[in-house]
Amino acid sequence: MKRGIEKWDAIVVGGGLAGLSAAYTMAKNGLEVMVVERGEHCGAKNVSGGRLYGHSLEKMIPGFAKEAPVERKIVRERLALLTEDGGTIIEYGSGKLDTAPSYSVNRSDFDQWMAKKAEEAGALVITGITVRELYMEAGKVCGIRSDGDTFRSDVVILADGVNSLLAKQIGMKKEWNPDHVAVGAKEVIKLDSQTINAHFGLKDGEGAAMMATGYVTGGKIGGGFLYTNKDTVSLGIVTTVGDTEYSEVSVPEMLERFEQHPMIQPLIQEGKVVEYSAHLVPEGGKKVLPQLVKDGVLLTGDGAGLVMNLGFTVRGMDLAVESGRLAAETVLRANGAGDFSKEALSEYEILLNESFIMRDMKQYQNFPGFMGSSHRLYDDYSKVLDGLLSQLYVVDGKTQDDILTKSARAVAKVGLVNLAVDGIRGLGAL
Ligand SMILES: Cc1cc2nc3c(=O)[nH]c(=O)nc-3n(C[C@H](O)[C@H](O)[C@H](O)COP(=O)(O)OP(=O)(O)OC[C@H]3O[C@@H](n4cnc5c(N)ncnc54)[C@H](O)[C@@H]3O)c2cc1C
Repeated sequence: MKRGIEKWDAIVVGGGLAGLSAAYTMAKNGLEVMVVERGEHCGAKNVSGGRLYGHSLEKMIPGFAKEAPVERKIVRERLALLTEDGGTIIEYGSGKLDTAPSYSVNRSDFDQWMAKKAEEAGALVITGITVRELYMEAGKVCGIRSDGDTFRSDVVILADGVNSLLAKQIGMKKEWNPDHVAVGAKEVIKLDSQTINAHFGLKDGEGAAMMATGYVTGGKIGGGFLYTNKDTVSLGIVTTVGDTEYSEVSVPEMLERFEQHPMIQPLIQEGKVVEYSAHLVPEGGKKVLPQLVKDGVLLTGDGAGLVMNLGFTVRGMDLAVESGRLAAETVLRANGAGDFSKEALSEYEILLNESFIMRDMKQYQNFPGFMGSSHRLYDDYSKVLDGLLSQLYVVDGKTQDDILTKSARAVAKVGLVNLAVDGIRGLGAL
């Protein structure tokens, strides 16, 4: 604990990417900042699929990937539409991916590195302490309370993740509607790096990312993900909580379906599961965002619902970094003016609106509704494609239909009207 500080300029609750980005930015600009993280170290409690789109961190710490503990640079994107015994995998690779690189990361290592950056900038990072409540004076947040101790500050940045109990305590947000939050379960599978290179067709340092839909979730909203790390593979599923209620396939069964699937199993064979974790993911999008500022307090990252799950990408980390930085920029201005009222802190909402966060969330604001609108997306279309391709590739010496008849037969399983409805809705949501 820094001696002599009775009142901090800012206290950050949560040492994940949002909180550490906020702390780094404020400390670097001369504020007295304390971060309080409940895990035994930063990153100890974080679960993430593990692919960081680097653009927002690059803005804050240029060239970060040269010194940060990134695992692999993603050079191959795969999209898998799986049926019970096979499926279709589309692979994309291009030098264009290098213009805005993304990396697989292990959050435990990565967040500890970020914590070190925040400390080097001058912040105090305390771990192993859970903040139980916010300290209020005359309806304004003026610090935090934990285990009987009060720590005072001009402002508090809440970066305490998807549940953000503290934001709920002061009425900034309600419990998530089960249709607006997903559960993610993840395994880390140990394999040596040369085996990973061989299984995925990669060179040293190169990584692959895969998103999968279809058989894995038994037709329920969600899908699988797989990212290659240096000498492990992160493999998991994300499925909407509201949908699991009606699902005949449990979350652990979905995970098993994915890892045992004939198109996936060969990629991870001989691997050993060394870690298992589960976590919630907010995915209601822009339409269900909570209140972002109140007197003396700002809400960032997952706590603010700043995540975009589009099926082909899951993005939360780049939004967490940016929202943390923008909250910090707001506090720096408020500090200059000596005004931490809700009105002054509303600058944060303006900065968010001008940033890629709200631009992208606005662009895809109808996407969560579309994704939840039709269970055909999570089962039938993989089967349609399988039906078509099996007719093209199974050569058995019998009479062959022409390609139009084959296509019509495959599409008939879903129905032309359903196909048109989903197509129009899908395009409208993009
Ligand atoms: C299975 C899964 C896969 C995902 N895949 C991806 C992906 O591939 N790419 C991507 O960009 N995003 C992904 N995400 C989303 C991403 O992980 C989050 O959006 C991101 O971690 C949010 O960062 P954050 O700092 O807001 O919250 P968190 O990383 O959750 O950090 C919050 C921190 O606050 C601490 N905390 C909470 N309450 C308290 C308290 N009361 N006192 C003290 N400390 C507290 C926690 O211990 C934690 O360290 C995934 C999420 C899941 C669950």
